Amino acid sequence: MDAPSADGPFQINGRCIDCGTCWQFDPQHFAPGPSRALVQHQPCGRLETERALLAMQACPVAAIEATPDLRQLTPVDGFPDLVCEHPAAQVLYCGWASKRSFGACSWLVVRPDGNVLIDVPRWSAPLARRIKALGGLAAIVLTHRDDVSDHAKWAQAFGCERWIHSADADAAPEAERLIDGDDAMRIGSDLTLIPTPGHTAGSLCVQLGQSRSVLFSGDHLWWNSEQQVVVASRTYCWWNFPEQIRSVRKLLDLDVAWLLPGHGHRHHFEPGEWRRAIDQTLAWIS
Ligand code: SF4
Repeated sequence: MDAPSADGPFQINGRCIDCGTCWQFDPQHFAPGPSRALVQHQPCGRLETERALLAMQACPVAAIEATPDLRQLTPVDGFPDLVCEHPAAQVLYCGWASKRSFGACSWLVVRPDGNVLIDVPRWSAPLARRIKALGGLAAIVLTHRDDVSDHAKWAQAFGCERWIHSADADAAPEAERLIDGDDAMRIGSDLTLIPTPGHTAGSLCVQLGQSRSVLFSGDHLWWNSEQQVVVASRTYCWWNFPEQIRSVRKLLDLDVAWLLPGHGHRHHFEPGEWRRAIDQTLAWIS
């Protein structure tokens, strides 16, 4: 039986699919339960309430409930939400998670060479207006077949190209640009697509910058904040786990400051910490 949520105006209903969106975005108030999320602390004050309301907006299945007077306080321009900065680029979380991608995160890279969306949220006109105000979209990168969601609507709205690996291209056959094989490919001056087959045959990671880089990992890797480890999951591997292990090894020599996955927690690494974490992961799964 699920643990009860804290008494108060925010509650989780039976529609919850346990996607993790709420507790990844707002861990102060939401937490994983045995089979669905729970409200571990009711928000207190305006800023905390707005954060919880944005988690409610991000939920892909309307499983978070609040009273009508609180719902009115939902910030109009809450998403995208700034996560980190890299020289010449900002990275923001888009919210508006999609049930079709099981609530996977999508990330917006705002950069002088043109903004790039990494995986896609559900279609949202308010979010599209915000992205337009930030300069629109030059490209969409789809990390793998599971997280393509409403890619057609986003591509049409911004007239931008979509990238996907050819091994997963049947999930987005309209994609204009394909990457083949296992070799990394630079797109623009600061973004690298790194094929990391395993979770699916066409999984790829996206690296922003080379030094103290931001790594968008799709479902190839994520951070487990309870155990403080980088996870490559055999349970959630849909294609070939030995290949996924080889793909993890490919990332060992990167200099990663931020890991931003599709699912699971995001994490900031101090210099040198990435290699130790990946060594630990490889020792665990090999
Ligand atoms: S975001 Fe919604 S569906 Fe996902 S875990 Fe939270 S309440 Fe459940």
